[in-house]
Amino acid sequence: MSRTVVITGANRGIGFEFVRQCHAAGDRVVATYRSAERSEELLQLCKNNGSIDVQQLEVSDPRSVSEFGRWVLKQRVTINLLINNAGMGGGWQAGITDIDSQRMLHVIDVNAVGPLRVTQALLPAMDAGSTVVHISSLMGSIEDNESGNAMAYRASKTALNSVMKTMALEFEKTGMSTICFHPGWVRTELGGDDAPLMPEDSVAGMLKVISELTAEDNGSFLQYDGARLPW
Ligand code: NDP
Repeated sequence: MSRTVVITGANRGIGFEFVRQCHAAGDRVVATYRSAERSEELLQLCKNNGSIDVQQLEVSDPRSVSEFGRWVLKQRVTINLLINNAGMGGGWQAGITDIDSQRMLHVIDVNAVGPLRVTQALLPAMDAGSTVVHISSLMGSIEDNESGNAMAYRASKTALNSVMKTMALEFEKTGMSTICFHPGWVRTELGGDDAPLMPEDSVAGMLKVISELTAEDNGSFLQYDGARLPW
């Protein structure tokens, strides 16, 4: 049976690869983007395929998230899988001397509050079998932080992991589940040209792990290949 999958930040990078692979697997896909100029490939793919819908979504704007939520509810579908992928970097060298606090709040808003906002808005369209996947980062692991820098990005992904864990405890009562992924160091605009992993391999790994999730995995922080990561 085909699934309905919602993917945020789907016009490029890891998000676009999720769209391609979910579509190829026969899923109905709802893909979000922000600007048409940066989304040519996604819009073209949608034009040629009735099973892909595209919608505009800015995850830091509560009004945009509500509008998107209303559109999804109007479709009268059950979302089987929500992939909160949209995210931003926050200055890789930024540490105590040069961090800009307003900018840091924005990064946390996009990377940690954004996924919560989207999940909240789409909750009425989910049921006991639904899964919410957040694309976090190993840089959100406090235990793994041995190189410092990227203060805003690290804090935003640590916050996302915490949001996910709290969400998981609530989901436990309903049969829904949620996890965070570290997608690996992936060659995208955010990951840069030196990244060793291609989006195809990262996403193929994550989709395999998703297909094998059990109730015990609810609340886990996993790498794209299924390895458990330290908080
Ligand atoms: P990209 O920079 O290639 O893509 C980011 C995507 O997020 C784009 O579609 C972008 O849209 C969208 N986006 C950014 N900000 C917002 C916003 N405020 N509202 C809605 N959409 C937004 O990055 P990746 O594909 O590499 O990253 C995807 C996820 O994976 C992110 O959460 C990232 O933190 C995480 N990640 C990536 C790693 C890597 O090595 N690449 C490693 C660890 C985690 P637009 O085109 O409009 O800017």
